[in-house]
Amino acid sequence: MGKDKKILLYRIDEQAKNVIFVVTEDNESVWGRTSEDAYSVISFDDVFRDITEFRSNFLDYEQLTDELIGAINGRGAVFREILERFDDNRLKSFNFFTRYYSDTLRDVFTEARADIDKAGAFFNTRALKKSTEYVNDVFNHIREVMRDDWNFDFNSESDMKAFRLSFDKIIIRGNDRNDIYTVADTALVNFFYDFSFAIHKMKLYVCKCKYCGKVFLGKKNAVACEAENCQATYQREVKNAKRRKRENGTYKVYSTRLSNYIGQQKTKLSAEVLDDPALVEKYDQQRKVFTKHMQDKLDEYEAENRLPDEELSAFYEKMKQDVMSFVYALEAEAE
Ligand SMILES: [Zn+2]
Repeated sequence: MGKDKKILLYRIDEQAKNVIFVVTEDNESVWGRTSEDAYSVISFDDVFRDITEFRSNFLDYEQLTDELIGAINGRGAVFREILERFDDNRLKSFNFFTRYYSDTLRDVFTEARADIDKAGAFFNTRALKKSTEYVNDVFNHIREVMRDDWNFDFNSESDMKAFRLSFDKIIIRGNDRNDIYTVADTALVNFFYDFSFAIHKMKLYVCKCKYCGKVFLGKKNAVACEAENCQATYQREVKNAKRRKRENGTYKVYSTRLSNYIGQQKTKLSAEVLDDPALVEKYDQQRKVFTKHMQDKLDEYEAENRLPDEELSAFYEKMKQDVMSFVYALEAEAE
């Protein structure tokens, strides 16, 4: 065969919030000069969405793959027909995981098929069985990984498990480069663990965008994803909320002014009133009634998103008159 097995390398860039994947051969001599198009840089959000999508459509993928596995030692024409559908599914997909698993499994399947053809020619049932079993094992492992929610518990909320895992690292250093990649296992288990570790360490959470409905990884309780449209709408809403708050400030001016006005009138009260505790008490009580009255009006304006207008000014002037009427009545009472 001569050609080296394909492997997938990955590096998680926490600062840029993306993952660099490299498809290469299992051969040291090629790693330093891998061509640009072998690299895929995928944002955390897209990786997360692709995982979620792949897992939620896994039943369909599983069915197609099982069909192919079922035909692995059957008639050549049948196997080729299913393989064609399998390839079609891969070509039509934009999902990183559909593509990766399909490419990996395709190599496994076609290699096994070649072995089976050879074994069949020599009626070697033992070799035939071995190849079929191997194909099954590879896919069963992927199946198990996909089905286990624990592998995708990015926010570490599930029960604790501790275990040992081994994997290879690839170092590319020199000529201004210093890169460390991890060699992904076929089922991508170590990648899912590393990805989850990065998400947890960066305190990112699975959030749902309130504008486009997509899930994304964001700060706790974040409401908008990083899509341009969603960010624009979100910024607009934040600005509106700020403006409303400022407008609330313009409402508040009226109640403050009225309260000050009532306070000023109190200092101008005659000695007869001020010397009578009952009348002072009456004044203070009435002050609360006036301020409450003003506040109710302002609340009305705020609820209707109505900006201060002439009507509000007139209301305020009327309140001042009411205060004065009350003051005169109080003075009359003191005489
Ligand atoms: Zn969005």
